Amino acid sequence: MTDLVVCGGGVIGLSIAYKAAKQCGWKVIVLEANSVGSGSSWAGAGILPPGATVSPLDPIDQLRAASHAMFPHWVDEIQNDSQIDVGFIRCGGIYLAQTNGELATLTANEVWWNEQGIAFERWNRDQVRAHSPALSCDTVKRAWYLPQECQIRNPWYLRALVEGCLKHGVEIHESEELQSIRPTDSQSTQDTCTVATSLGEIKTRRACVTTGAWTRRVLQEFVPATQATEIFPMRGQMVLFRLPTRPCVPVVNDGHRYLVPREDGLVLAGSCEEEVGFDSSTTQTMIDDLKSWAINLMPTLASATVEKTWSGLRPASVDGFPYLGRVPNFDNVFVAAGHYRHGIHFSPITAKLMIEVMTGQKTSIPMEPFQISRGLTYSS
Ligand SMILES: Cc1cc2nc3c(=O)[nH]c(=O)nc-3n(C[C@H](O)[C@H](O)[C@H](O)COP(=O)(O)OP(=O)(O)OC[C@H]3O[C@@H](n4cnc5c(N)ncnc54)[C@H](O)[C@@H]3O)c2cc1C
Repeated sequence: MTDLVVCGGGVIGLSIAYKAAKQCGWKVIVLEANSVGSGSSWAGAGILPPGATVSPLDPIDQLRAASHAMFPHWVDEIQNDSQIDVGFIRCGGIYLAQTNGELATLTANEVWWNEQGIAFERWNRDQVRAHSPALSCDTVKRAWYLPQECQIRNPWYLRALVEGCLKHGVEIHESEELQSIRPTDSQSTQDTCTVATSLGEIKTRRACVTTGAWTRRVLQEFVPATQATEIFPMRGQMVLFRLPTRPCVPVVNDGHRYLVPREDGLVLAGSCEEEVGFDSSTTQTMIDDLKSWAINLMPTLASATVEKTWSGLRPASVDGFPYLGRVPNFDNVFVAAGHYRHGIHFSPITAKLMIEVMTGQKTSIPMEPFQISRGLTYSS
């Protein structure tokens, strides 16, 4: 008898499986339709913006604050278990105001940062130049530096999570797709459930659906449409440049776009938000646009090699909140999905909260805003 079947092997599923096996000693199986870590989690940038250091009211701020505080210890634990460096560094983040609109937004953000106890420095153009000479600053009106911003290497983090899971006895089944879940005993929803997959059936004490952008589709196979969550895919495209050395240390945020310099000279340029369904291809227009924006901001990239381009499907939800909790009408089926732009960042707190929910403990933060049946409708 399995204690937990985690359906979906992205950062959220792997984090929950790792914690369930390590902390609870559960027998855990991860089911992944393709290969683990091949979804949105691999495609992301790995930016971890600072969280509040005082108790925030907003539910997303609560997740961010808790997860950001957990990250250093979480990373130590996973690195120790896996012996894999996940590239976690406190690199700081620069936020550029290049237009009057951005200047107004970022100036207003000072109030929010102050309220949340998030450290920041206001910089003029010369200070940006002095700190990060690789940036072209001619059109920069003002900038803000957030020293607590961090980054992680997603592919390394995913590999480390897989190793951590294996070390604690988690079975990982790749190329095995969740098809549906039903109570094992049709008279009772209490006891166990049966997970039907493309390769057979697994009887388990509990199941957790962590299928990212595919969650609505997956749940619709076995729960009424109104309870199938309001998650939809939001495509983001990315360009990866290679320079001989790291051009600057901080993440550079420019409106909705960013450059993420890695320690070995790789520089990620992203991204965009495109509602194109489950199409995870790249488009020449967007890749060209990202390249020219990146070269404009960091002219040395003009001589860099473009290593790779790709896109990923972020699991977006209509109200911007993830779905975390029990599936209505089931006692032992749970969902953790819909993390949109924050899934890498919110992975430690999501694992912690889901273990609390699945073991019936009081949760570290209130879970009502993340309930599956929160009465939203999204017509696709
Ligand atoms: C371009 C881009 C940039 C991003 N940047 C950041 C960032 O800087 N910081 C940050 O925190 N987040 C970022 N994100 C968001 C983050 O990557 C996601 O929120 C996160 O990866 C979601 O994780 P997940 O495990 O829910 O989904 P996924 O990683 O997509 O995993 C879901 C898995 O479920 C599998 N699956 C689907 N259907 C089934 C089925 N029926 N049976 C079994 N398995 C199934 C899929 O194959 C997939 O592997 C970014 C995302 C993108 C695309």
